[in-house]
Amino acid sequence: MYTDTIPTPDLGWQREALCAQTGAEFFFPEPGSSVREAKRICGMCEMRSACLEYALANDERFGVWGGMSEKERLSLRRVPR
Ligand code: SF4
Repeated sequence: MYTDTIPTPDLGWQREALCAQTGAEFFFPEPGSSVREAKRICGMCEMRSACLEYALANDERFGVWGGMSEKERLSLRRVPR
């Protein structure tokens, strides 16, 4: 077995995620719906940096992660470094 060589991401931050206490509907709204409430909750979440880092590293395409919408994360990826 080679399971020792496969890196597993640290998902401990999800235990402290505020969205886990509020429900997913704010964070994965219907297309065209407001993400204001999700962003407000993210603004109070201490896991925001870890969450955004995870979303970018894993190319999460849908929903609000780390206080950023899908479009905002896409724009962030396009910024030359
Ligand atoms: S920053 Fe991430 S973990 Fe925190 S509430 Fe927002 S989506 Fe959830």
